[in-house]
Amino acid sequence: MKSEPIDRRIFLSGTARAGIGLCGLCMCSPLASFAGEDEGASEKIDLTERCFCGYKCPDECTFLQGTLQDDVELKKEAWKEWKIEERFGVEFDPEQAICHGCKTMDKPKGIVLARCTVRDCAIEKGKECCIDCDELVACDKDLWRRFPDFKKKVVEAQVRYRRQT
Ligand code: SF4
Ligand code: SF4
Repeated sequence: MKSEPIDRRIFLSGTARAGIGLCGLCMCSPLASFAGEDEGASEKIDLTERCFCGYKCPDECTFLQGTLQDDVELKKEAWKEWKIEERFGVEFDPEQAICHGCKTMDKPKGIVLARCTVRDCAIEKGKECCIDCDELVACDKDLWRRFPDFKKKVVEAQVRYRRQT
């Protein structure tokens, strides 16, 4: 998420990619397209298709594509887009400029997944997604604080999810 703009843009753009991708730290694409909410209230929510935070990462995510294509230029682009250096004080490092997807557990973690407190928390709690967490509304993890509109969408998704289960 750019300080606001960048992350936001990132967070907000995108087509859904089941269980893969970046993310809140990176946050791609339009919040408007967040987690399939644009698909309509009748759309069944499948937590396995969502990242731990509830986001659906876009296939075209620069971090993901840079990783899959092992393309250093794309990785540099992603590093810049997500303001990794400004945010974490880490200079570009192609070894850390990777993401195989939020829920891909058998691959090395790049800097984004490694620094995501939401992801760590959900894994520790054994949650498929924060949408299935009773603590979501009160949760004050940095991701939610930085993207209150996104959190609102996730909470709305939780309400819908609970109606369907
Ligand atoms: S849980 Fe964290 S790492 Fe995964 S998509 Fe959300 S913000 Fe990104
Ligand atoms: S407490 Fe719940 S909502 Fe908050 S990060 Fe952890 S799993 Fe997600």
